[in-house]
Amino acid sequence: MEQGASYFGVRDPRHVEEDLDRLVDEGLNAILHTYSERDQTFYEETMADIVAASNDRGFTTYVNPWGVGKVFGGEAFSQFLGKYPNDRQQLVTGSREHAACFNSPAFREFVREWTRSAVGLDPDVVFWDEPHWILPEWFDDDEPDDAWVCRCEHCQRRYREKYDAPMPVTEDATVRRFREDTLLDFLDEMMAIVHEGGAENAVCLVPESDADHGIADWARLASSDYIDLISTDPYWGLFAGDDVEAFVRDAIDRVTDLASTYDLRSQIWVQGFGLPDETATYDHVRTTTRSAAEGGVDSVFMWGYDGCRSISSIASENPDRVWESYLDALSG
Ligand SMILES: [Zn+2]
Repeated sequence: MEQGASYFGVRDPRHVEEDLDRLVDEGLNAILHTYSERDQTFYEETMADIVAASNDRGFTTYVNPWGVGKVFGGEAFSQFLGKYPNDRQQLVTGSREHAACFNSPAFREFVREWTRSAVGLDPDVVFWDEPHWILPEWFDDDEPDDAWVCRCEHCQRRYREKYDAPMPVTEDATVRRFREDTLLDFLDEMMAIVHEGGAENAVCLVPESDADHGIADWARLASSDYIDLISTDPYWGLFAGDDVEAFVRDAIDRVTDLASTYDLRSQIWVQGFGLPDETATYDHVRTTTRSAAEGGVDSVFMWGYDGCRSISSIASENPDRVWESYLDALSG
């Protein structure tokens, strides 16, 4: 089984190599390097060195569009949004939100360029992390409850081309389907570039199947010609109700079922950030990791290495203990 963690924040290859050697000693065989807009702009060759150092050590290497356009997960800013304010997602009420629109030609070209750069780093896998449309309530308390995205001019134009009718003002099933189609089409275009470059594609969806985020029907994604691995991140601290184990089990069943139906690999992410220092935390880390291994998933990762010790805004209260619990569970 692939045993990995996400890695970030260090851009001096000498320091990274020390960490990589330790992560090998700790039993990992896979690593995800975050590749933000900042990394692409300022650290491209450095990142290629970091990926090479990881490949040299036998890791399966992943890179992801960390916070790119703010439509993927990650603690990173987006310069694109500052440069192209009119290519942001637009609420039906007219206000622009803090994320790029998947139908913006400028954003698509920007992400095509990011993708070519990412493949050029020579990773094994490009990891499309939590691609999503925004939910208006994340940003605007003032907006009406039935506000929705995106009704920008690009979306209106594509909607009209597709349905030969104006885009409605009230959200309906066709609008939701259009959002899903748009996101799947966007991912397919980028994943095709990855395949042409000789790398594989992983897509990670949040465990909520809420169509507002974009992809309600995971089978549509899993049946893409370009996807190789289906992933989800059952972060119990964010999404679970009282029954964490059932919540995690549902996520495991979901990706293993899809992987077996569509001949993909499966992956589960273990929460390693924002966790309180209490017994239940370490039990959940252990049982999630063990359940994934025993449930037959092909790959288990923690977000992120060392319990996110170095990102103070999301670090766990006792990150070292979170990390040790994960390593313990991996070793059986
Ligand atoms: Zn739009």
